[in-house]
Amino acid sequence: MVDLKQNVQYVKSVGPAKVPLLNSLNIYTLEDLLTYFPREYEDRSKIKNIADLIDGEEVTIIARVVSEVNINRIRKNMVIVKTVAEDETGKCILTWFNQTYIKQHIKRGESYKFFGKVTNELNHIEIKNPVFDKIEITKNTGKIMPVYPSTYKLSQTAIRQAMQNALNMINSKIQETLPEYLLSEYNLLGIEKSLNEIHFPTNLENRLQARKRLVFEELLTLQLALLELKGNNKKEKGIEFNKNVKMSNIINKLPFKLTKAQLRVLEEIDKDMESKKIMNRLLQGDVGSGKTVVAIISAYKAVKSGYQVAVMAPTAILATQHKEEFNKILKPLGIRCELLLGATTVKNKKEILEKLHNGEIDVLIGTHSLLTENVIFKNLGLVVTDEQHRFGVKQRTNIISKGNNPDTLVMTATPIPRTLALILYGDLDISIIDELPPNRKKIETYAVTKKMEERINNFIKKNVDEGRQVYVVCPLIEEKEGEEEKNDLKSVKEWTKIYSEQIFPEYKVDYIYGKMKQKEKDEVMKKFKNGEINILVSTTVIEVGVNVPNANIMVIENADRFGLAQLHQLRGRVGRGEYQSYCILKYNSKCSQIGKERMKIMQETNEGFIIAEKDLELRGTGEFFGTKQHGIPEFKIANLFIDMPMLKSVQSVALKIESEDPGLTLEKNKLLRKLVKEKLNQSISL
Ligand code: ADP
Ligand code: MG
Repeated sequence: MVDLKQNVQYVKSVGPAKVPLLNSLNIYTLEDLLTYFPREYEDRSKIKNIADLIDGEEVTIIARVVSEVNINRIRKNMVIVKTVAEDETGKCILTWFNQTYIKQHIKRGESYKFFGKVTNELNHIEIKNPVFDKIEITKNTGKIMPVYPSTYKLSQTAIRQAMQNALNMINSKIQETLPEYLLSEYNLLGIEKSLNEIHFPTNLENRLQARKRLVFEELLTLQLALLELKGNNKKEKGIEFNKNVKMSNIINKLPFKLTKAQLRVLEEIDKDMESKKIMNRLLQGDVGSGKTVVAIISAYKAVKSGYQVAVMAPTAILATQHKEEFNKILKPLGIRCELLLGATTVKNKKEILEKLHNGEIDVLIGTHSLLTENVIFKNLGLVVTDEQHRFGVKQRTNIISKGNNPDTLVMTATPIPRTLALILYGDLDISIIDELPPNRKKIETYAVTKKMEERINNFIKKNVDEGRQVYVVCPLIEEKEGEEEKNDLKSVKEWTKIYSEQIFPEYKVDYIYGKMKQKEKDEVMKKFKNGEINILVSTTVIEVGVNVPNANIMVIENADRFGLAQLHQLRGRVGRGEYQSYCILKYNSKCSQIGKERMKIMQETNEGFIIAEKDLELRGTGEFFGTKQHGIPEFKIANLFIDMPMLKSVQSVALKIESEDPGLTLEKNKLLRKLVKEKLNQSISL
């Protein structure tokens, strides 16, 4: 049996120069290489007659060369190699640029297979830069070729060659990874055949079958791993909160009526809290759907049952905001809330920690600072974390360990479609607030190009003159990107300069960005909240949770560079007060088709869930799920849009296996056990 974990350097044709290049693609082992799947395929197996060639298609022809191969130097650095080939149906010109060596490989009178892109204009059929083989050879033509995703500095040819060598290493030497009974029950190809067919398909049907098997394995492993996590949660006994503490007591005192959705999720939470199982609940709701008040009511239940509550937010700004909101509702009921930040003075901190330990504080709100060792609760019963993707599973576990099996409520505004959330967060129960409080004014969204600049600026001016405030968001420029791109992208500071010196010299313009010190960030946000800044230029640091009701315009520069999820989150920063709000998406009219599609979707709808579905449709897993930040696993081959039906059926397969054999201890599930163990080891953010 071949060792799949061996270093990729042992693959033939992978020399010392290529290893670092492969590493940069996250390929370290033979297995990594084999699971670097093609992004798409070039079908060079289709053979057509010259007379049938269509302009723009990529195709293989079989033709005889009927003229000498001519070399023409048309200018410095530009040599054209030309010849003519024909079959029974017609003639075709073959042209290569700067490839004089072609002359040695092609002989007048011989036949070859040529593959390339066709130009077909009025009596002139041409293939530019075709690859070719002698008739009896199938190296460059006559088959389906894989096209790999980003190859960094490696050529497609180099990756293909390494891949073929890797396949040669494993053929008849690789151990099957799925149990026999699953392969036969679900009619799946074996691992060896699947890997061969996914990289170098012999035909389309085989490729589909190979893909099916690999997706099945990937999704099944994930599902089983999630079920195992969930199973572990279930074993321990949790707190039974007091049934006589009624949530309705506090609900009736609120200044507004809760939405049906809020009431429904509260019922779910209430039931969990009263039961003896440990609550592990994900509370999902679009920006502005009112998750905070749900957390406040849950905290009320915990405190009045005799327990303490920890509320963890990703930024100091948010934590401070939460403290204010919690106090507004809970203080009148005699519940003591405190705020603990990294920036809290030593003296204050000492006092807070003492009170916390003595049980004189009921709800402690803060940032990562809550995780420090000296934060000791007397009786922690409920942990609330806001915007969960900013916290890793490890941090969640850390705060949980400060209590004795406390319940947890994880809040997120990432609008994951329900079906998907159910499956992906297999280890958490899910509550969804799918309704906004009534009378929210719809945020008007306009996607505009440069031509509209002046009108937009006048519009901003009018609003600022009326006392409103404006966010301007620009994309983060990554070092990695080419110089070319840098040229038309400006940094936060450059935009600030443009806004403060050229466009709005009469207003107070300031900026905030991720790498600033926390203290400076807080300072700027405080000024913005207090209205001392009219226009705030920033990167996406303001994406999450900030609440400045007086800000009513969100301008996004280079909007086509952002993903839908981010655009939606950013837009959610306005429309939080009584004023009609606007989102202005400035985009480049020459941007990609997907970019334009995103602009269209943003103008059409304000609903996170619809946007999430659309995003899935546009980009498969999409950037909603692409980033590790969100704690959602990245897939090597599965695509959650295309593979949704598969995901659903795999889920039931996983449930069946799990109910039959909970710890996967049966001999027949030995291979599954191995897959799951590996999965759990590799991803802390499953
Ligand atoms: P998010 O879900 O984005 O965290 P918040 O909890 O910040 O939303 O709520 C947004 C605003 O809506 C807050 O000012 C909150 O007080 C208010 N709110 C929440 N629920 C309701 C409701 N049922 N009716 C009216 N206003 C509500
Ligand atoms: Mg919130």
